[in-house]
Amino acid sequence: MNRRYRKTIIAGNWKMNNTLSETRSFAEQLKPIMPRGKWCTVVLCVPATNIQSAVRLFKDCHIAVGAETCHYEQKGAYTGEITPAMIKEAGAKYVIIGHSERRQYYNETDFTVNKKVHAAVEAGLIPIICVGESLEQREMGVTMELIAYQVKCALAGLAPEKVRHVVIAYEPLWAIGTGRTATAGQAGEVCQAIRTVIRKQYGAHVARSVTIQYGGSMNAKNAAELLAQPDVDGGLIGGASLKAVEFVQIINAANQE
Ligand code: PEP
Repeated sequence: MNRRYRKTIIAGNWKMNNTLSETRSFAEQLKPIMPRGKWCTVVLCVPATNIQSAVRLFKDCHIAVGAETCHYEQKGAYTGEITPAMIKEAGAKYVIIGHSERRQYYNETDFTVNKKVHAAVEAGLIPIICVGESLEQREMGVTMELIAYQVKCALAGLAPEKVRHVVIAYEPLWAIGTGRTATAGQAGEVCQAIRTVIRKQYGAHVARSVTIQYGGSMNAKNAAELLAQPDVDGGLIGGASLKAVEFVQIINAANQE
């Protein structure tokens, strides 16, 4: 992490978990143990039906709310989809784009990721853009090329002053929900490579401002080591963000680094 130039962001990704009443009990557990006035920014990305309530519930403990995906059009005949403007008006500040589960199950491509990033930024949301390689791609030795391609595609056409404010989450597919975490060295190496790609495209000033997270089975035990890497500026956390106590332990690890 490097707090001098960029935000440290710990973001939970609840995926398709937690009803409204479960969200309320999560907030009840979390509030008394949530650290106050600390360094890192905390975000919870929740199912769309929970956004408005989550904004209200987590406001006084300074947790921002995010959505888990969005459409790239501003309106239209896209049954079941929601737009960045809808998310923004519901009170969210962030939106996850290009999560590997969306890429795998809902045909999200680098092309649609780019359109969604533009739509989110135009609506005033901060996109958390997910990139990552499969185990086969890592074993074939193409991780760096693939990640560079995904990052370039996601950001194509975005003005440098907008790129400064996006968040990139490096999420190796083989580490998501598997309990298998990238080593701190692997995470640090890829996050550093992402910053290099951004530096080459947009300059050093932009590159050093971008928050780059690691995601993939981050938990209370491994968070400190991963976050100690200079280019790992936070985490995108799935399973462990569903447990209030463990989520707070990760936030504490980020605050101590
Ligand atoms: C994720 O879904 O973004 C994620 C990192 O999940 P988990 O922490 O459960 O691996």
